[in-house]
Amino acid sequence: MSTVMQDGFGRQIDYLRMSVTDRCDFRCVYCMAKHMTFLPRQQVLTLEELQRLATLFVGQGVRKIRLTGGEPLIRPGIVELCRHIAALPGLRELVMTSNGSQLQRLARPLVDAGVKRMNISLDSLDGERFRAITRNGDLDQVLCGIEAARDAGFEGIKLNCVVMKGRNFDEVLPLLQYAIEQRIDITFIEEMPLGEVGRSRGESFCSSDEVRALIASRHALLDSAENSGGPARYMRLARHPDTRIGFISPNSHNFCASCNRVRMTVEGRLLLCLGQEDSLDLRGLLRRYPLDDQPIINALQQALRRKPLRHDFSAQGEVQILRFMNMSGG
Ligand code: SAM
Ligand code: SF4
Repeated sequence: MSTVMQDGFGRQIDYLRMSVTDRCDFRCVYCMAKHMTFLPRQQVLTLEELQRLATLFVGQGVRKIRLTGGEPLIRPGIVELCRHIAALPGLRELVMTSNGSQLQRLARPLVDAGVKRMNISLDSLDGERFRAITRNGDLDQVLCGIEAARDAGFEGIKLNCVVMKGRNFDEVLPLLQYAIEQRIDITFIEEMPLGEVGRSRGESFCSSDEVRALIASRHALLDSAENSGGPARYMRLARHPDTRIGFISPNSHNFCASCNRVRMTVEGRLLLCLGQEDSLDLRGLLRRYPLDDQPIINALQQALRRKPLRHDFSAQGEVQILRFMNMSGG
């Protein structure tokens, strides 16, 4: 029997983004403050709890799970967790978003564990700039990670690039060229106003329309109706069929009408919308009902009816949500 999760507006929810850690080896300027306080261990879901929740969501109709964070690959036991989740009957695909720093070591074990596709963040091809944006990151390590991912045999690899004026807007074309050479996809993302990161986001805000115009000045672009089940709109390059270009534009092109997803923070808060604070405390329910899933399923179905119609991010890009992206299951 297959169950379906539907929200109060008739949208079918079949995609869960699960944060498996709030910690990270990087401190990207758009995602975190320089000095972060992370959650105490007892507030973080155990691997068993993450697995139980994944099982429960798939039983309720979730078909795609993305593991994210923080940096998912620094959570001890991540490969085993992937293996368990990937094997859940009814799940169509387990995918992941990573900063790439651990992929040299883990790409192949992740493919073997059943992870189908990998999104890897890459905001610059200049080592010094890369370090300035990530505050800690080593570009060469990430580039080797991307190559390891390509060799490991994922069904798809996509680069994610948050474009900021004055930081990496001038790298849009080189980053696209790199994706073309690697024969992988690339998505350009508008910065979202999540968390107080210690600088004004409005100054560096760069819209997807500006990025697209820059690319169109060099490449013949073809519209594409393709949909990867996420918020990106895609275009193809007339001369490079192996690379798709995605645009995620939460500020300038609201994509809420087709929203099919919910997010879970690593303390088990089910966020009904990335841009709103309303949430369901799944950790409390898990620990109150260690052997009985039904009360959790009931609460989940009720919460879904409260899922908001849309978020209210605006192109001014000022903070509206105090939660950092690493807490949100980005
Ligand atoms: N650590 C992994 C990584 O960087 O890919 C996974 C977690 S990260 C929070 C997920 C994605 O969110 C990354 O592609 C990152 O670039 C993006 N991101 C983080 N903060 C953002 C923000 N304020 N606006 C837009 N995208 C953001
Ligand atoms: Fe870490 Fe990813 Fe956030 Fe960068 S975007 S600080 S890599 S969680």
